[in-house]
Amino acid sequence: MTDAPLLEVRNLTRRYKLPRQSLLRAPPVLTALEGAAFSLCAGETLGVVGESGSGKSTLARLIMAFERPDEGEVLFQRRDLHGLSSGELRRLRRGFQMVFQDPFGSLNPRRRIGWSIAEPLRASGETEHLGYRVAEALTQVGLHSADAGKYPHEFSGGQRQRIAIARAIITRPALLVADEAVSALDVSIQAQILNLLMDLQDDLGLGMVFISHDLAVVGSVCDRVLVLQHGKTLESGAALDVLRAPKHPYTKTLLKAAGVRP
Ligand code: ADP
Ligand code: MG
Repeated sequence: MTDAPLLEVRNLTRRYKLPRQSLLRAPPVLTALEGAAFSLCAGETLGVVGESGSGKSTLARLIMAFERPDEGEVLFQRRDLHGLSSGELRRLRRGFQMVFQDPFGSLNPRRRIGWSIAEPLRASGETEHLGYRVAEALTQVGLHSADAGKYPHEFSGGQRQRIAIARAIITRPALLVADEAVSALDVSIQAQILNLLMDLQDDLGLGMVFISHDLAVVGSVCDRVLVLQHGKTLESGAALDVLRAPKHPYTKTLLKAAGVRP
């Protein structure tokens, strides 16, 4: 075993070309993320916080290699994800999975949830024991193995988020990226899902990038925090320090919005 970080993000930058406003001028470019950098070890949680449009989901998509950066690197278990062939990337994908914000939107309404949960396994070329693995994942997230035969509409919002988590952990990943994973839920349900994520992290030794616009939620579950505004990192540090003694006025505004007193 090595002490190398599970995930290393270096100088990650992503620019989007916006629609051209005049034939005479080059199209405007929006820098959605600029020079993001951090490293994450197994069992550790990094919170990424910032208001809407600050570049959080862009960072998530780059870490997940759903899109490519303009500059910088994402090293997962020391391999640069954006330098791999598509075949290598597909094989490595089972090691890092994402929990999406809107499980209803990402679950196929016409398929039994067992089919949807097994999707990442099929995508990574696994064909054996899918039923067993689905049952195991359902149990891990506090649902019943028999739930595999039901359809998405038969579940509550909180249960659907559990299903989304089951789908993310079914490949037995080392890293989870959770993008606003509890933001759509009622506060009491939020707490249950956060507890589930923390328990899974302990049991499975997962590294986690936990993205939220809510600094109170981030502070309650994360070891370290990175604060984004307009794609730039304003501050980063131990969650307790950032919550207790925010350095930047923007972070103080986020704290106020989350109802936290520094
Ligand atoms: P957040 O998740 O923090 O709300 P995003 O990462 O979704 O922020 O967006 C950051 C910025 O990048 C926003 O200004 C958004 O409008 C812009 N953006 C995101 N994706 C695209 C895209 N595909 N094309 C153009 N602009 C985009
Ligand atoms: Mg987002």
